[in-house]
Amino acid sequence: MSAIVTPSKSRAEEFRDDEAYARELDVSDPLRSFRERFHIPGRDDGEPVIYYTGNSLGLQPRGVQEMLAQELEDWKRLAVDGHFKDTRPWYSYHEQFREPMARVVGAKPSEVVLMNSLTVNLHLMMVTFFKPTQARFKILMEGPAFPSDTYAIESHLKTRGLDPKDALLVLSPREGEHTIRAADLESTIEQQGESIALVLLSGVNYYTGQFFDLPRITSLAKSKECVVGFDLAHAAGNVPMALHDWDVDFACWCTYKYLNGGPGSIAGCFIHEQHAGNTDLPRYAGWWGNDPESRFRMHLNDTFIAKPDADGWQISNPPIFSMTPLVASLAIFDEATMPALREKSVRMTAYLRWLIERQPSSKFECITPQDPEFRGSQLSILVHDEPQARHVALQASGIVADFRPPNVIRVAPVPLYNTYHEAWRFAKTLCQEMS
Ligand SMILES: *Cc1c(COP(=O)(O)O)cnc(C)c1O
Repeated sequence: MSAIVTPSKSRAEEFRDDEAYARELDVSDPLRSFRERFHIPGRDDGEPVIYYTGNSLGLQPRGVQEMLAQELEDWKRLAVDGHFKDTRPWYSYHEQFREPMARVVGAKPSEVVLMNSLTVNLHLMMVTFFKPTQARFKILMEGPAFPSDTYAIESHLKTRGLDPKDALLVLSPREGEHTIRAADLESTIEQQGESIALVLLSGVNYYTGQFFDLPRITSLAKSKECVVGFDLAHAAGNVPMALHDWDVDFACWCTYKYLNGGPGSIAGCFIHEQHAGNTDLPRYAGWWGNDPESRFRMHLNDTFIAKPDADGWQISNPPIFSMTPLVASLAIFDEATMPALREKSVRMTAYLRWLIERQPSSKFECITPQDPEFRGSQLSILVHDEPQARHVALQASGIVADFRPPNVIRVAPVPLYNTYHEAWRFAKTLCQEMS
């Protein structure tokens, strides 16, 4: 399990705003060589873009094309025998991800499985873990949440005959504020915990980049006997976690954001070992969750026997081609390690913020929490002065950044492939005088 790096607040660094300094930071960056392991899209003139949307779709690791070509070749030559071929047999293909994936999220290998996609896994986890009763029937989530999560949660309430108006508790930032106060979250759980069946928050909020205090929320919610699950779409591969030690009940994440698994790549799921081995837990079952010992007995055995770990929640045999890129990507995570990535992420994001905040706050306001304990790689910038025109100017200079109308620009300086010099160029372009 990866160690958690808690960046110390006292170590606020002094930066300089000249270009040479940005170059110096890159030269002394211990992770600088990892950039070469990725394909960086190019501008029309052939220069690489500044890719700041790794929180939306991560870049392609080099080597993926060859690995996919190999699987296609195996399919061509071996067909059904590919399930039991010598290298990366398809039958047990998903098993190779357990350990590296567990290291990224701080879990035991038996607690982690790659399957389906994120929203599907949220549904599957709610089938097992949302058990409303007369007295305890609410789901607590944060606002604004990614729409898919809201749709999934509301649909679970409705299919259990519950009205989201009574059963959905959405905790949002206070009027005039951008992020959720820890105290508000805690007092909601304190006061309403007895009626809350499930606390289902994101680890890092997609819009503000706020990183919630997951261990604290988990222990508080569990002291009220709520079940605790997290959507780690923006947290996995971004911030170090210790899901097992924190006693989180379940978690789901996609692998195409910080984990560079490619568009629509297979999603991850964590089920704490205290539940994963409990084969009596209700679930939507399929043959791939069945104990492999009896999986192929087909007509001889029509009673579902759950595999007593996270694998027991699988339904179908998994899509090999949408898992292959992750072999390359997770190997890179193992080489770089989460603590080292976190250290660079904290510093590079602080540097970018520092550059932007040298401008008057009447123009730019970073709404992501300042304290690195409460953010990952993402900065969400409220642009008060010509937001749209500035986004167009960014695009025109080959900077790929996300624009949320009316005026939020979200950027993710990703420690695996972004540089300090890019942060410097981004800030210069964003903050230029507009005519
Ligand atoms: C990216 C993201 C999703 C996307 O869901 P898919 O099922 O992978 O399409 C859902 N929820 C959150 C919080 C996200 O950030």
